[in-house]
Amino acid sequence: MQYEAVIGLEVHAQLLTNSKVFCRCSTKFGAEANTQVCPVCLGMPGTLPVLNRVAVEYAIKMALATHCKVNDKSIFARKNYFYPDLPKGYQISQYDQPLTQKGYVDIEVNPHTKDFGVGVNGAKRRIGITRIHMEEDAGKLLHGESYEDADFSFVDLNRAGVPLIEIVSEPDIRNSEEAVEYLKALRDILVYLEICDGNMEEGSFRCDANVSIRPVGRKEFGTKTELKNMNSFRFVQKAIDYEVNRQIEVIEDGGKVIQETLLFDSDKGITVSMRSKEEAHDYRYFPEPDLLPLHIDEAWIEEIKNTLPELPAKKRQRFIKEYGIPSYDAGVLTASKELANYYEECVQKYEGQGARGKGQGTAGKNVSNWVMGELLRLIKEDGKDITQPSTFSIQPSAFAKLLKMVDAGSINLKTAKEVFEDVYKTGKDPEAIVKGKGLVQISNEGALIKAIDEVIAANPKEVAEYKGGKEKLFSFFIGQTMKATKGQANPQVLNKLVKERLAK
Ligand SMILES: [Zn+2]
Repeated sequence: MQYEAVIGLEVHAQLLTNSKVFCRCSTKFGAEANTQVCPVCLGMPGTLPVLNRVAVEYAIKMALATHCKVNDKSIFARKNYFYPDLPKGYQISQYDQPLTQKGYVDIEVNPHTKDFGVGVNGAKRRIGITRIHMEEDAGKLLHGESYEDADFSFVDLNRAGVPLIEIVSEPDIRNSEEAVEYLKALRDILVYLEICDGNMEEGSFRCDANVSIRPVGRKEFGTKTELKNMNSFRFVQKAIDYEVNRQIEVIEDGGKVIQETLLFDSDKGITVSMRSKEEAHDYRYFPEPDLLPLHIDEAWIEEIKNTLPELPAKKRQRFIKEYGIPSYDAGVLTASKELANYYEECVQKYEGQGARGKGQGTAGKNVSNWVMGELLRLIKEDGKDITQPSTFSIQPSAFAKLLKMVDAGSINLKTAKEVFEDVYKTGKDPEAIVKGKGLVQISNEGALIKAIDEVIAANPKEVAEYKGGKEKLFSFFIGQTMKATKGQANPQVLNKLVKERLAK
């Protein structure tokens, strides 16, 4: 039988506010344990939470960016459970009346990767968002990291009360690749909005997956399991693939999938049972008596809407149209806002200096080739981060100047790549490097003819063979002359001249 997976994702994103969601404690990462706490986030009796307006604004930004409806009234609720990292014994969240709901994100499944299940590669898919609600984060448990790794666990409550949004998708996802594309799209949006740093390893962007399978064509859902502990895109993909196959095996063997929560063991690449899955009623949700219902007026929503930046999907479309680059290039260049800005600046500088093919899209493609080829290669070698502006140490003006020198024929491509690397590493002016190292391309016919004739004179055997019909020796002469000119010969001029000299 053919099965299809039904996957819904719950994403928790930490909001980049300066203070916590219900008190004034700092949210700064990396402080000494339990130094960023107060009676409110420690859950002392008699304290009252006060809602952080910026956190609400950020949540609304995300809602607008994902086409969600912002409710004019929403309610905070207590989600009750006991755990040592939760001093109040409940988490303030939202339940049946969330801040926002009913949105979507469009994704495109990478046409270069394998097809898994029924997803169509390269196809655009719309993934529905059920709701985005606000809540507070819990503290963190540190296991045996002190007292000579003794058998202790420590509680750090610096994170308790840090604002989160939970983004719940519809069960619209059909395979692990769609899940990853959806997550990447969400993370891109959050980072572009500057409301979350999107760091999965540090836990500021977390994902749980609800996974079930059903025979293709059936409408009803199968029993789902919940996957946790996937702290990279690769692990999300692996965990879902593993879990889908596990469920298919269980059913094919005549068994039943049990509703439970599973942890992904990244070392073994398997999912392991953690506990039977709790139901919503286990949490005894009830409206938070210490907070008033949250009312959002239209004017504020409009105001926030006007501050939204250009989002990744829009930017990709604009790049394709404005710079005449393929969608693959646009995808790479908009992978971070910083890289996209850098690219645009380089194109502008290049066109400003009278780029070849200005206005015909070729300037954009030329810059794109250099960014995707040389620049990203060097950044990767350095282990640098394309979301950091300091990564782009070669100034856009220097970038443009170098390309212009290639266009003008004053250096050839090979030299240009060397100079590019030099500028990248030293920040020096490309013209100064070319002059200093004597790398100027030789286009002067007299000088080139002299070099060619020397090569011809030194290789009588090859000349005879070439004249006898062994035409592929042509590249031998090109290579030898290039070598003699230290790679600085203008290739077009050289080609023409070698042909002429050999014909004599
Ligand atoms: Zn506090």
